[in-house]
Amino acid sequence: MKLHLVTGDITALEVDAIVNAANTSLLGGGGVDGAIHRAAGPELLAECRTLHGCPTGQAKATKGYRLPAKYVIHTVGPVWHGGGRGEPDLLASCYRTSLTRALELNCRTVAFPAISTGVYHYPPQEAAAIAVAECRRFLMEHPDGPEITFVCFSGHMAAIYRQLLGQETEQA
Ligand code: ADP
Repeated sequence: MKLHLVTGDITALEVDAIVNAANTSLLGGGGVDGAIHRAAGPELLAECRTLHGCPTGQAKATKGYRLPAKYVIHTVGPVWHGGGRGEPDLLASCYRTSLTRALELNCRTVAFPAISTGVYHYPPQEAAAIAVAECRRFLMEHPDGPEITFVCFSGHMAAIYRQLLGQETEQA
């Protein structure tokens, strides 16, 4: 049982790594990105400046500073333009590359927000289906992979994930 569901604020989670839904500059933004930078403190932005941004669909890691999490894995989700501009593949790549970074850092526990479903307007149901499918695939290919927690910021989003996860999920 390696896929879990939590409703709440990802910055509070005591996991090895939390994933940030960042933008290509990696210099902070609104939504979950803003919350992570506020909770981690200014050292996070200082390290992010050394990374020189990140392309959409890729991921780069930093330390977690004042967060309970040891690392932040910053990934850049696609902006939703209707689905015809490679959005599904780019979103899947966010989950896959973030988990690859997590393995490189020997993380045993990783938490994801619902990447792209805020200001990037990816339809929640489609985004959640990709998140769950891609994480399941990664764990099939990497049996040594981390425990993965999906963090939902609303009850509506949690209901979508709960339905997709079915019996796998343990509500924390
Ligand atoms: P994006 O630009 O990738 O759409 P957002 O931060 O706008 O990123 O939203 C991504 C998702 O993260 C949304 O579902 C939003 O509700 C959620 N979210 C916002 N703040 C938090 C938080 N503190 N913890 C977990 N999820 C959050």
